[in-house]
Amino acid sequence: MRVHTSWGAARELRNRTGQDRAGRPDFPRTGGTSGPWAGSTAGVTSGTRDGDPRRSVRTAVDNACVTAPDQLRLLAVHAHPDDESSKGAATMAKYVAEGARVLVATCTGGERGSVLNPAMDRPGVWERLPQIRVEEMARAREILGVEQEFLGFVDSGLPEGDPLPPLPEGCFALVPVEEAAAPLVELIRRFRPQVVTTYDERGGYPHPDHIKTHDISVHAFEAAGDPDRYPELGEPWQPSKLYYHMSFTLPRTKALHEAILAAGAESPYGEWLENWDPAHDISHRVTTRVPCAEYFPVRDAALIAHATQIDPEGRWFACPMETQQEVWPTEDYELARSLVDTTQPEDDLFAGIRTEVVVR
Ligand SMILES: [Zn+2]
Repeated sequence: MRVHTSWGAARELRNRTGQDRAGRPDFPRTGGTSGPWAGSTAGVTSGTRDGDPRRSVRTAVDNACVTAPDQLRLLAVHAHPDDESSKGAATMAKYVAEGARVLVATCTGGERGSVLNPAMDRPGVWERLPQIRVEEMARAREILGVEQEFLGFVDSGLPEGDPLPPLPEGCFALVPVEEAAAPLVELIRRFRPQVVTTYDERGGYPHPDHIKTHDISVHAFEAAGDPDRYPELGEPWQPSKLYYHMSFTLPRTKALHEAILAAGAESPYGEWLENWDPAHDISHRVTTRVPCAEYFPVRDAALIAHATQIDPEGRWFACPMETQQEVWPTEDYELARSLVDTTQPEDDLFAGIRTEVVVR
């Protein structure tokens, strides 16, 4: 399930656009650094190496992308097949429609998932679940218009019980970060995204694979641009921005709840809201709201393609789409790291990149 890109193709693309005209792996970009991690020097290296001008003065910022608008590339890192359709799917569909390339990296095959749709809980499904999830992912990928690759790790499952049972041997969550991030570093260097999206440090929700997805995304974001790290995995490439999904916030749920009640219908969110500890709300972290209501139908179609995981009668569809489009027409993110200048709040994951000017 490899996408039709290769290091050679990426290089060819770059040559076509003249970005490589100085014969360096990348042009240094202009502009400063902003965002919560401004000033961080993690992953930055510099200095002349081996007297080779091609490798001189390479810094993380130097490796950040300078590009033309028709080359925008977004990499969305997810834990399981279906996560891409429930987190940021409308955003991805929007950027695909605008001509960007969007690649989903799916860390695991979702092998330890359950059949969560009663209509699919039938003989023949459980036995073939891993294969079915690959087929569902292929359909969702087509619906969203994205490219997609599996990173090849094995689902850790969601441990349940008190005390929690140990994680299964060999699962994604147990692979050391340095090793687990390697396929993602290779992918970043091959696909060369300007923007990477992932989960926050709590995984968005406490599934060990989601937390691990966060860990390897941050690690790979730092490492991919550093020629001293994973030198065997391709030419360094430093993405410019790293985002965390922030769509499931208290204000959004409240707004949807109130709109449903105002329409005289029964809200599915009452119990959630009663149990929602405001201390655990993440809405104050939102820096970026991407308007994408037009693509909510695409998102929902992609979700439904994951037929074993998504119950069309279930909570994902409990709020009418029109209500969502009217009341909360965005998908929301936290800009966790940026190597380009942007003004917050943002409404575009590529803000600060579209307007980059190649000056050298
Ligand atoms: Zn998941």
